[in-house]
Order: sequence, then C-alpha cells, then structure tokens
Amino acid sequence: MFDLNSLLRDNIKRLVPYSTARDEFKGEASIFLDANENSFGSPLPVNYNRYPDPMQWKVKYKLADIKGVPPQNIFLGNGSDEVIDVLYRSFCRPGVDNVVIFPPTYGMYEVSANINDVIVRKVSLTPDYQIDMAALQEAVDEHTKMIFICSPNNPTGNSINRDDIEMILNNFDGLVVVDEAYINFARQKTFISELTEYPNLVVMQTLSKAWGLAALRVGMAFAGEDIINVLNKVKPPYNINQAAQDLVLVALDNIVQVNEWIRETVVERDKLAAGLISLKQVLEVYPSDANFLLAKTTDAKGIYNHLVAKGIIVRDRSKVELCNGCLRITVGTPEENTVLLETIAQVP
Ligand code: PMP
Repeated sequence: MFDLNSLLRDNIKRLVPYSTARDEFKGEASIFLDANENSFGSPLPVNYNRYPDPMQWKVKYKLADIKGVPPQNIFLGNGSDEVIDVLYRSFCRPGVDNVVIFPPTYGMYEVSANINDVIVRKVSLTPDYQIDMAALQEAVDEHTKMIFICSPNNPTGNSINRDDIEMILNNFDGLVVVDEAYINFARQKTFISELTEYPNLVVMQTLSKAWGLAALRVGMAFAGEDIINVLNKVKPPYNINQAAQDLVLVALDNIVQVNEWIRETVVERDKLAAGLISLKQVLEVYPSDANFLLAKTTDAKGIYNHLVAKGIIVRDRSKVELCNGCLRITVGTPEENTVLLETIAQVP
C-alpha cells in the first residue's frame, strides 16, 4: 500500500516551511515594506525590484489548461534538474535510502543522488533498451524510495513499454518518477492522464526541449496534491524567477508554433535516421521517440573528432554501457542535418 507519510524523511515531516509576509497577508495592499526590496524601482523597464510569486500561480493556471490537470497538481522547478533534487531532499534519507535507475539513462538521477548521499541501485536495461523486470524485483527493498523511469529514454531514444511502467506503478510502494522530457516527440502518450489512478506516480516534463525554452530553466512535476505540497515545502521559495515566469506566460500562447516544430522535428528525425544508416560509417540507428538519434558507428571517437574539427558537436556516448560505439545526435534543422551527413561521409 502506498503511504506518502511513511515515505517522507522525518525532518521533512517536521519542517515548518519558509513563509513570506505576502503568503501570510490576506487582502489588498499598495505599499510593500515587508521584503527589503528596493522601493524606488529596478533599472529595467519592468518591476523586477519585487520578488516573484513563490507559487507561480499564473504559470500553473496556464499549464493546467494545456496539460488538462488542476494547477494544484503541478510543481515547477528551476529545470527538471531541480525537480529531481527536490525529490531526493524530500524523500531520501542520506546514507540510508536508495533509488533505482535503469542505465544507460539520464545522468542527473545519479549525480543528484550522489550530492544527496542517496544510494543508487542500477538495473541495466536489456539489450533492446527495456526494463529487466526480474532484475528490478531483486533490486528493490524496504529502503527503496524512488524508481526513475526515463521514457522516452535519454540517450537511447526509445520509449519504455507502457505495460512495464504500469506493472511497476501497481506493485511498488515508493514513488515512480516517469521522466517525460521528450514526450512531445513520442508515439506513446503521456502518463499525466494516469495521475488519478496511481497515487505513487510523479510525471516530470520540461520546457527545455519541444518548447524551446532551455535557457529559462523551467521543469515541471505532475503528481497528487499531497506530493506536490511536500515539494513546495522543500523547494527554495523563489525558485522560478520573474523573468522566466513572464516569458513562459508569453511562450505558452505560442503552442501552434511549438506543435509545428514538433511535427518538423519528427519528420527530420526520420529523414536523418535514413540518411545516417545509408552511410558506411554508421552500423545501426536505434528507433527514436525523442528529438535525437543514437547511432552505432564504426569509429565513434574518429567521427566525433572529425565533426569537432568542422565545428559540429554531437555527444560521444561510446563509453557508456550498452552504447558501445554510439554517438547521440540531436535532430537539427534540415540544413544542419545535411551538413552533418556530408561531414560524417568524409570520414575515411
Ligand atoms: N530529463 C531528461 C531525460 C533530460 O534529457 C534532461 C536534459 N538533458 C532533463 C531531464 C533536464 O531538463 P531541464 O532542462 O528541465 O533541467
């Protein structure tokens, strides 16, 4: 049985969150002398002399509309990377608790665990980059607080079988964190629609990929209200700055443009995959549900170095387990992809 209270760290159960005068104050005010801001103004044409809304309600209401969930079920982090860190700080006791990850996968699950002194249990993906369910069962014990499932997975690009994720949600009493950073490019649909079904589900998404806002650092978690309330208690009060909140509100009105880019990216991804596989330097291109491709090459280091010399940077993943000889290549514009293919073709 999932019981949120028993998952929480004792210090978090006892935690009295930081509260601002503006949280405590109910009503209208016109003179703000509570937060030691600059009362005269900001050296910009906008009022950035005032602290931002710590709960980011305007952004959450708009996201709620787009995602079809109530705003109270949304948590915002300074990138999903902060969401990951806040999850660790909320639920995992340093030196005692563990989490399960499925390598090869996104690196920050492990780095953030190391920073927080949380034990990482690695259950390698199968050769077809799916979850080894038997090995997972072996890895979980009473101190396992979270399982991180990246779907579509970085760096392999594939989605994880939905049935396996549901099986884990049904059988694991800790939190199941499904990282959907690349979901906009996937054939699979989001797990956000399953939130009412599974009290132990946390879905992470980000504005850094399809939405084209990596520089603003805004990541999202969708979960039951009780989980969201915990994350809000633990996060730094003003973790999403005012410029980011203002710009995200503008950006979220441009969904038509974003959807067009997603369509173009998917078309270009499939064209790029075909172009890569026709090169003698490329042995295999793995099926991708993301905006990048994992390509197994004859000589990853040689191709990588040649590309760098020509001013093109891809990600060398050839030393990563199950990615022997592989480069991870982000889908570029049609012109960029053409140059990339021509440049790889020059490698002897
Ligand atoms: N999850 C995955 C799977 C990612 O690949 C990335 C970024 N590379 C992130 C999360 C982090 O995204 P953000 O920019 O929101 O911190």
